[in-house]
Amino acid sequence: MTKQWKVNRRGLLRGGGALAAGAVVPWAAGAAAGGTTKLHILGSRAGPSVGGGQYQTSYAVTVGDALYMVDCGYGATEQLVRAGLRPQDLRDLFITHHHPDHNIELGTLIYFAWYAGLVKPLGIYGPPPVKAMTQSYLAALKPDIDIWLDDIGHPPLGPIDVTELSRPQDVMDDGTVKVTCTVVNHPPVVPALGYRFDTPDRSIAFSGDTTPVPAMVELARGADVLVHEAIYTDDNVTANRSGNGDARVDSGESGSAIAGDAQKLLDHVLGSHTKAEDAGRIAAEAGVKTLVLAHTVSLVPGVTDGMWIAAARKHFDGEVIYAHDLMVI
Ligand SMILES: [Zn+2]
Ligand SMILES: [Zn+2]
Repeated sequence: MTKQWKVNRRGLLRGGGALAAGAVVPWAAGAAAGGTTKLHILGSRAGPSVGGGQYQTSYAVTVGDALYMVDCGYGATEQLVRAGLRPQDLRDLFITHHHPDHNIELGTLIYFAWYAGLVKPLGIYGPPPVKAMTQSYLAALKPDIDIWLDDIGHPPLGPIDVTELSRPQDVMDDGTVKVTCTVVNHPPVVPALGYRFDTPDRSIAFSGDTTPVPAMVELARGADVLVHEAIYTDDNVTANRSGNGDARVDSGESGSAIAGDAQKLLDHVLGSHTKAEDAGRIAAEAGVKTLVLAHTVSLVPGVTDGMWIAAARKHFDGEVIYAHDLMVI
């Protein structure tokens, strides 16, 4: 079932229609779809580069009408709408760490949620200095917000409650979802967080960006779904230090060029992330039902969905899904 569904999805992407403006792609993934709680892959692209028909990291969790988001990389707001969700319904945003592919649309998301009619308090959670970052965005947005207040009588922006997190803890429980977090390992960004959502019918854990860590096994233990970041590499890259640490850079893909040191990028990718095989190991140790590989970067060209899934399955015999933008799981 997974294979047939994957082939169809790739066909859609090649057809060029899936990412057209306003497109809504109602992909429903595998056996896990259908319950009240749904996981929406808004963006699956890793790293600060743009393009390639793929948006940066962001996920939505919906429980009936309740909407929550994890991370808001570039394209998150647009993808939220393409997923058929309403920015003004956003209750809480959880940021895993302060890399731009996870937080660059913090201000954008707040603005368009407000413009669309957000009047309820918005909760924002993340590592320090998320309070100062939010305040800076709000200061930058104030002239634009003030114009609409006067010009069309738009309601003022409601309260935004920002909570900084830097240790494993219970984060919030609003009676619909209970969210906990743990600290993962993503040098040099400290702290970097993983989150777990427990809803009445489902549990979903998010690794954020991290090397393989026992804390993630503990956070995800017994969960229905683990969304784990992953890299795909081979012995040539790791032993010979070949390439730039990102096949998109190696291939000269527009939007993926780096101005920094290629060897430093390679060191970062190998030293701060998780190989697909190890994501499978984490999933197996945690005893989850479904592993979703998202925020994926291949260090070698030509890696297919099937190769990613096979790598994760070396140590995990549950369901493995290779994430694409706008999947619903
Ligand atoms: Zn990232
Ligand atoms: Zn990162």
